[in-house]
Amino acid sequence: MRTPLIAGNWKMFTTASEATTWARALLEDLASDPVRGVDLALHVPFTHLAPLAPILRDTAVALGAQDVSAHAEGAHTGEVSAAMLKDVGTRTVVVGHSERRADHGESDELVLAKAAAVMAADMVPVVCVGELEAERAAGRHEDVVVAQLRGSLAGLSPARADQLVVAYEPVWAIGTGRTATAADAQAMCALTRQVLHELFGETGTAVRVLYGGSVKPGNAAELFAQADIDGGLVGGASLDRDSYLAIARAARSNA
Ligand code: PEP
Repeated sequence: MRTPLIAGNWKMFTTASEATTWARALLEDLASDPVRGVDLALHVPFTHLAPLAPILRDTAVALGAQDVSAHAEGAHTGEVSAAMLKDVGTRTVVVGHSERRADHGESDELVLAKAAAVMAADMVPVVCVGELEAERAAGRHEDVVVAQLRGSLAGLSPARADQLVVAYEPVWAIGTGRTATAADAQAMCALTRQVLHELFGETGTAVRVLYGGSVKPGNAAELFAQADIDGGLVGGASLDRDSYLAIARAARSNA
């Protein structure tokens, strides 16, 4: 049985002080009405990590970063290492988000190196894959995603399934309000699970596979009811506390 995970991705929104107020209010909401049986995580900008760490420490909400350097240390101006993230209390790190692949030319090879750095620092990488709209229109979405998965994951060696999370996020659905149909999302997450099995055997089969792309309170329950969808990577809707909680509660009702 895989515990669903609702992972927020705040992208480049909010200030650190807004985030601390938000997180305290979230914990109050959770104290009065806990979301049991669902793991929660928030992936916030780097500047928010240190102020949020003492608020989220020892709570049900994992503190997450949105990127990491593949380098351990050195002359890499502007980069933040896995050890630095770990040191301030980060537990999960998104790597290979489509916005980084598109805006910063991140290759599968670099995503793999980042995921390895995160695992070596004893944190959990949330490795993102997903096809462009033109690739789906051309019927190439399965090939594209399988290649991304192999290129971004082969060589990692998770000893346990909870050391890795994969997010299938069709790029055309991210931030657009256009969600994949539950059947299409399920098919791609099932394919992802097959590749995880090919790469990591039984451990891979137990790795959580998230769907991402315009998940909202209104579509979450149907998506999370699919056999191979273990929760969501949620961008825009995770900035609104009520939406984030409603999405988490939709995962609970399917758990
Ligand atoms: C994301 O940021 O990964 C994402 C899926 O965004 P949104 O939910 O806004 O589409």
